[in-house]
Amino acid sequence: MRTPLAVLILEDSEEDMLLMLREITRGGYEPTARRVDTPEDMGRAMDERPWDIILADYTMPRFSAPAGLALMKARGLDVPFLIVAGSIGEDLAAGLMRAGAHDYISKNQLARLLPAVERELREFRERRHRRETEEALDSAMSRLKTVVSNAPIILFALDPAGVITLSEGRGLDALNLRSADVVGRSVFDLYPDRPDILNPIRQALAGETLTASATLDGVAFETRYTPLTGADGRPNGVIGVATDITERVKAEEALQESEKKFRGLFHSATDAIFVFELDAAGAPRPLVDVNDIACRRLACGRDELLRLSPLDLVSKEDAQVFLNNMRVLLSWGDITFELTLTARNGARLPVEMSAHAFDVNNTKTIWAIARDISERKQAEETIRRQAYHDALTGLPNRMLFKERLNQSILQARRADHRLGLLFLDLDRFKNVNETLGHIVGDQLLQAVAERLAGSLKPDHILARLGGDEFTILLPRLARVEEAVKIAQKLLGALKAPVSLGGHELHVNASVGIALFPSDGEDAEMLLRNADTALYRAKEKGRNTYQLYAPLMNATAFERLVMENSLRHALRRNEFTVHFQPLLDIASGRVSGMEALLRWKHPELGLVYPEEFIPIAEETGLIVPIGEWALRTACAQNKAWQDKGYAPLVMSVNLSARQVQRDDVGETVARALRETDLDPRYLELEITESVAMQNDERTIGVLKSLRDKGVQIAMDDFGTGYSSLSYLKKLPLHTLKIDQSFVRDLTTDPNDAAIATTVIALGHNLNLTVTAEGVENREQLEFLRRQHCDKAQGYLLAQPLAAEEFEEILKHEKEHPETSLVP
Ligand code: C2E
Ligand code: MG
Ligand code: MG
Repeated sequence: MRTPLAVLILEDSEEDMLLMLREITRGGYEPTARRVDTPEDMGRAMDERPWDIILADYTMPRFSAPAGLALMKARGLDVPFLIVAGSIGEDLAAGLMRAGAHDYISKNQLARLLPAVERELREFRERRHRRETEEALDSAMSRLKTVVSNAPIILFALDPAGVITLSEGRGLDALNLRSADVVGRSVFDLYPDRPDILNPIRQALAGETLTASATLDGVAFETRYTPLTGADGRPNGVIGVATDITERVKAEEALQESEKKFRGLFHSATDAIFVFELDAAGAPRPLVDVNDIACRRLACGRDELLRLSPLDLVSKEDAQVFLNNMRVLLSWGDITFELTLTARNGARLPVEMSAHAFDVNNTKTIWAIARDISERKQAEETIRRQAYHDALTGLPNRMLFKERLNQSILQARRADHRLGLLFLDLDRFKNVNETLGHIVGDQLLQAVAERLAGSLKPDHILARLGGDEFTILLPRLARVEEAVKIAQKLLGALKAPVSLGGHELHVNASVGIALFPSDGEDAEMLLRNADTALYRAKEKGRNTYQLYAPLMNATAFERLVMENSLRHALRRNEFTVHFQPLLDIASGRVSGMEALLRWKHPELGLVYPEEFIPIAEETGLIVPIGEWALRTACAQNKAWQDKGYAPLVMSVNLSARQVQRDDVGETVARALRETDLDPRYLELEITESVAMQNDERTIGVLKSLRDKGVQIAMDDFGTGYSSLSYLKKLPLHTLKIDQSFVRDLTTDPNDAAIATTVIALGHNLNLTVTAEGVENREQLEFLRRQHCDKAQGYLLAQPLAAEEFEEILKHEKEHPETSLVP
């Protein structure tokens, strides 16, 4: 099989061409030849097809070898170009070779042509192959270079002597170097004093693969050295890839730095910090980390703390709060709540806990920052105290008391039990303030608060509502008598004088009692009714207590029923009059009696005036009832006189409503007339407040009564506010000292002073003075010493039914020398 060969021949002789072709054919080629002898022909031939070889004569009539060579070069072609010519001399031949011809063969030695052609073709192939390889390498290298030069690395190669043969990569920029600066130079010359750089290179040149780091001009590199192996298997240089790790090093340093700073912060934080994990159900595992302040606050060593669960640190009552919040934390990621921690030494630490959950290795890690809020709690407590307590006595104030009262009412309602509300007010406290000043007044209130508190049980709540008003809540009351007993105890506690700044002060108080549920269903109602009862206690005579009379508080319906039964009471003859004797102190004889109304209620039994007179007064029924009492008393008196007992003065009470009526004079006159009683034996008692109601008119009414020969007594004297000048204008016969002054006569110097003064005053005004409520001999002795005229009270006798009273009269009559008081 012959090798095809395209041969372009620059020749003017056809014969020479054939000779050449013959030579080539001998080498086993099958040439396709074209002979050209002008530049134009050669151009056309080259346009037509590629040629494997060009054979050129040196000179032709219209062409030449150099011209053909130039033409080929101009087209950028690289084709083997052989000069086949006659003898042209050594110099010319050498010049042609320099111009690009590949060989020169003399036409005389054509036998040399074939080997030359074969050699040139071979060389051309090699040349082409080399060029193609080079081109491929070049493009690969340039691609690599673009890659490397954009990477933050330095790719370098060293020959076995350590000379840099390649250095590429953006890593060079960091060192301010260009590849050309280092390529061709030995690393041993470049870095003579850098064993940290040279030692690894030496190892790599010796065939070791390794990684080493070093810092150059502030840039940190980590270099991977890969030794190259020659064809003989011996080390033949090194490829190195240096990576700029400056950022990484900086980041690591920064991390370390921030870790250090963080630890510093962690331990110097003013809040306790706890780190722990939660299991999937939100239950805490033992502590993982705690800061110094946590150890200090909890009075517990770090090691011991790290063995505990956060739950061990939470106070018992807050354990559930903590667990609930941990569950919320699992879904919310962070949460803030308040709870109380318990230190190892038992101290309680109220904290505000901000907890944050982080996912670390699929586990919920909790950072809980516990801020000490004991000061805030204390401040809150102080504010609460200030808002809810009275600054002077430290007792609960009105607001707190009402709150407690409301709570207690709810409980009482639920448990269906009674509660008691006591309203206590100091008697004549105003005087203390006015005469001794507010400072003493304040001290007195403090002393009173202390005494009251001292006589109460722990579950009783004592409050100061303001001024000299105190309230006491008895949250659970078995029997009504209990409330009464406590009221008595409180009054008793105030009996002993209080010594303040050289003064011996005697304090008295009055107490009103209201009960739940009978006297009120809510706080407002109870307070109001206790206050009403208090007011009545004051009216009744100071230093005493009063239960709120339930009938006063009756609903409209109950009132109607009450009113009706009161109305019927008269018709049904349910009223009766009891009589209480009055003692003439000097003689020891009975000198008179007071008529006191009673209601024998078919269901309620004996009802005392306190309970029905207020309603009778309100409804106006007091007028017929009072008139009945008056007539009954007069009739009884007359009956006794008719029976032959010594005539006595009968005292009958007149209510405000009766005195106000224009026909009061007529009513009294009628009673006297109808019973035929001598007016001398009738005394009408009016209270101070009645007397004060409408001075001129009242004075007129009383004068007209006196003119009829009837005596007038001022009842309950001392509880109202009579002025002396007014007292003088009244046509009085008798002053009755209110029982509240008599009760403590012998123990309370204030009351003694008042009683003494009233007795002296009464005598000054030419009045008879009667002391009410005399219950013991000491009181009577005192009154006797003060020349009080008359005494009335349980010591002598209780109010008695007419028949019983008659026994006294009988006794008096039969034993004229003996005294009622043995
Ligand atoms: P009062 O006129 O001051 O009558 C004296 C009250 O003191 C009576 O109460 C009497 O039982 C009570 N008393 C007498 N001695 C003692 C004692 O040693 N210690 C104590 N703690 N109390 C004693 P009573 O009978 O319940 O009458 C209460 C008030 O009712 C009377 O006070 C009077 O204001 C009024 N009252 C009574 N009867 C009538 C009446 O017929 N008409 C009117 N308008 N009022 C009446
Ligand atoms: Mg009276
Ligand atoms: Mg009285």
